[in-house]
Amino acid sequence: MFVEILDGATLLSYGAKTIPEGGWFAMPRLYFDGGLLIGDSGGFLNAMRLKGIHLAIKSGMLAAETIFEGLVKGDLSEAQLATFERRVNDSWIKDELWKVRNFHQAMQGGLYPGLVRTGIQVALGCRDILGDRLESKPGHEHVMKLSELAPGTGKRARFTKREGKTFDKLTDVFQSGTMHEEDQPVHLLVADTNICSTRCVVEYGNPCQYFCPAQVYEMVEHDGKKELHIAASNCVHCKTCDIADPYQIITWVTPEGGGGPGYKDL
Ligand code: SF4
Repeated sequence: MFVEILDGATLLSYGAKTIPEGGWFAMPRLYFDGGLLIGDSGGFLNAMRLKGIHLAIKSGMLAAETIFEGLVKGDLSEAQLATFERRVNDSWIKDELWKVRNFHQAMQGGLYPGLVRTGIQVALGCRDILGDRLESKPGHEHVMKLSELAPGTGKRARFTKREGKTFDKLTDVFQSGTMHEEDQPVHLLVADTNICSTRCVVEYGNPCQYFCPAQVYEMVEHDGKKELHIAASNCVHCKTCDIADPYQIITWVTPEGGGGPGYKDL
């Protein structure tokens, strides 16, 4: 549908980013020795409204209060910084996110069932018919094996080769203004590339080639065997690979030298 709309358009700018849509129950612990998680890092996003800047600002303000208190006491230990969680719970952040705590889980069944389910949740005062907290699967568990996608099953792969008239990925990377030092250490750590050439090629068809929007991952034929090649300098820092890799063997780490996309007006 979007391919038709965008056909013939001029690409002015490009960017890609995952969002922490899991909601209240998916938020990590927000404090640790010497640090706090705020904004997207802490999962401060209202998935129903697809808005998080106000929550990022508020979490930053609460973090600043927490850190100030710690500095006055000369104590930035985990125990002291744990007061950040109380501040979040006592603020309007919790009021807002608690109301939509089951929204993402309700949408896992598809758009239309999700809309009905969400309507019921709103009518029930933010609870779900199945209880206060719905089960949720991590993103990588939604990636289906090739065997589950056999013709006749009616199932569609979550990630497929980009077809049609949209722009190619390298043009997208150029338009994102991404810059990295070419000789820096690879910031995409793949724990076992052997899995890519043996199990993944058969079980999942190497979906990293498709879900990465920047053509970082490519399976290249070498001596009759497919090998993973990583063009780390293309990375637009969306973090999809860290989340969607079905074997969870990709770890995205901060690249050396402050490189990354040069977004403007995004
Ligand atoms: Fe996104 Fe990972 Fe590709 Fe970088 S390598 S653009 S983080 S999917």
